[in-house]
Amino acid sequence: MQRHTHKTSDSKHQELESICKKHGLALTIQRRAILETLASRKDHPTADQVFEAVSVRMKGVSRTTVYRVLDTLVSIGIAKKVSNPQSKARFDADMSRHHHLTCLRCGLVLDLFDANLSNLQLPTGIEDEFRIQDYSITFTGLCAPCNEAACARQGTSIT
Ligand SMILES: [Zn+2]
Ligand SMILES: [Zn+2]
Repeated sequence: MQRHTHKTSDSKHQELESICKKHGLALTIQRRAILETLASRKDHPTADQVFEAVSVRMKGVSRTTVYRVLDTLVSIGIAKKVSNPQSKARFDADMSRHHHLTCLRCGLVLDLFDANLSNLQLPTGIEDEFRIQDYSITFTGLCAPCNEAACARQGTSIT
């Protein structure tokens, strides 16, 4: 029986190794540490958050390096940028088709796995103009703590 499990950072590491080989890229310590950090998190960190986490385990790594490596990981298809209403890009090492719940107030990005949403009929008749590769749906709203805070504020403002 096959269970749906998230990729462990171990198999992610093997994936990085083979993709780097394919693209003729060296599997540097930085690339490995940055991917491991990203793959171990479910919170879709910004580049700055990845930098903060990586610099704890790797002294001397620069912010610029982290930004550059993240862009490399995206361009070779082992990580992706998550679209969100904030201007700061957020990164995701989970390349399986899934969707996101984004909080408009605090910027939290949660994963949403939903079989119906993942098997939508793709638009047809646009093949000449555009080739769809993948899709991901972003729902915007308020996370539970932000929703509570908003309700509390509303309650007190009606005086
Ligand atoms: Zn929130
Ligand atoms: Zn995600």
